[in-house]
Amino acid sequence: MPEKSPYNIDIPSTDVLSYVFRQDKTPSEDPIWIDADDTSNSLSLKQLLYWVRRLAVGLDRLGIQQDEAVMMYTNNQIFIPVLYFAVAGSGRIFAGCNPAYGVEETSYQLENTGAKAIFVEPQYLDTVLKAAEKTGVSRDRIFLFNDRPCEAVQGIRDWRSILGSEQEAEQWQWHRMSPVESKSRTAVLNYSSGTTGLPKGVMVSHQNIIANVEQSVYMRSLEQSVSPPPERWLGFLPLYHAYGQLWSVVAAAITKTPCYFMRTFNYRQWLSHIQNHRITHIQTAPPILVMLAKRPETQEYDLSSLVNVLCGAAPLSKELQNEVSAKIGLKIVQTWGMTEVTCSCLHVPGGRDDRSGAVGLIDPNAEIKLVNDEGVEVGPGDRGEICVRGPNVTLGYWRNEQATRDTFDDQGFLKTGDVAVKDEQGWHWIVDRKKELIKVKGFQVAPAELEAMLLENEHVADAAVCAVQRDPEELPRAYIALKEGSRGKVSEREIREWTAARVAKHKRLDGGVRFIDEVPKSVSGKLQRKLLREWAKTDTATD
Ligand code: AMP
Repeated sequence: MPEKSPYNIDIPSTDVLSYVFRQDKTPSEDPIWIDADDTSNSLSLKQLLYWVRRLAVGLDRLGIQQDEAVMMYTNNQIFIPVLYFAVAGSGRIFAGCNPAYGVEETSYQLENTGAKAIFVEPQYLDTVLKAAEKTGVSRDRIFLFNDRPCEAVQGIRDWRSILGSEQEAEQWQWHRMSPVESKSRTAVLNYSSGTTGLPKGVMVSHQNIIANVEQSVYMRSLEQSVSPPPERWLGFLPLYHAYGQLWSVVAAAITKTPCYFMRTFNYRQWLSHIQNHRITHIQTAPPILVMLAKRPETQEYDLSSLVNVLCGAAPLSKELQNEVSAKIGLKIVQTWGMTEVTCSCLHVPGGRDDRSGAVGLIDPNAEIKLVNDEGVEVGPGDRGEICVRGPNVTLGYWRNEQATRDTFDDQGFLKTGDVAVKDEQGWHWIVDRKKELIKVKGFQVAPAELEAMLLENEHVADAAVCAVQRDPEELPRAYIALKEGSRGKVSEREIREWTAARVAKHKRLDGGVRFIDEVPKSVSGKLQRKLLREWAKTDTATD
């Protein structure tokens, strides 16, 4: 029998805008989203609503229809919540793209979402213009997106140029969704390769977002023995990813917590923001805990304001967890999740000082079963793939019914590709990953994407990509069969450099390249990924 969460909560069934403003006849004027470098640059909930209304009028005027996507291509900045809530709250779909992407990666995502408008930070305009040209998005649907007004660049206007007037904005009303609509309407598309293949748009409904915020906030409140101080968060996780959106955009609005936004991550600045803004809670990932444990500059800053560190997005060993805990004198609370469950579905209760490396208990209103390779559900102590059902589980993949069908079992459970064990009390530990996905610094790398790209190299006959373990990191490595006649004409290093010029930094082949005679495939032509992983454990490659 699938295991139900020990907790049950009421989850509002509405749209994201009604959710944020449900109790507020007069929204608060306290700053919620604050520029960490310049605290005079901030937005309150009242200002949020003002800008959301004006932008929604602008989107109507552009003729962008319900259920059409709008793409964001920017580093973190305080107007992102405006774009997020204006797009999703007006029945359209918010789609964030990693601004580190090159032209190819951006074109793929642009084409896949079918975005009807792009909001781009001026410094990334060149990439977006090239991608837009490739995919046929007209230049008059591209807008410069920054927290300060800016002059037109290459004929591309500032997003403020499309805003409705104050009068129009006052009259604009959003459509209040029924419970059925809230469950079925996509609010956000976040990209993930899931258990196999290329990155796909994960359809996140209004209900998914609301459920996952309520679940996460609830789990965090458990077992707190003292009443916590007023909270201050640091918004450094990227806002094109589910983890950043959940906490720094929606949960910050719901809990009315000031969240200091960092444009990009820099370790020293991160430490100084924690110290100077007296940050109380951070939501983070293992690579940052590694920095906290190993980098000498950690000692130079006063981190005593911190009361809680939440860690998810990649495996965290109990040894590292406890090392960092001891160093900063704080408990570290783990969570497990993935884009397809909106953000997370297992949490260690926020007040618990758990040192076992567990990712915790099932979030309220959700169910999990662990299933072995034969498809049979296993009990406590046995390893099994995590399969999830609940109000936070995605509607499926955007315009990809086959992938959606393959991802759910016949009981409607999402197959996650992560392997866990649980104990009799319902505590879970992540022990393996059986899907292709590689996680580099918490970011997704889809082997299929790199393999397809490598095949475009004139020397490559076939390619396979897998992870090599460089504790505590994973890095992508390529096994390559060269074309007849290319042997001796290209080096492993050249293939690495060729790849590096085409992909975002985290997708580079930093685990090395190795030439082989033939890429291992089964008789049906399927890549033998298990064998690759075995090879990656033992052999060497150009590093
Ligand atoms: P993403 O969809 O980018 O959030 O990536 C989700 C994947 O990250 C999961 O399927 C896991 O493989 C990995 N992951 C997330 N949280 C954890 C965790 N606490 N421990 C181990 N792996 C994790």
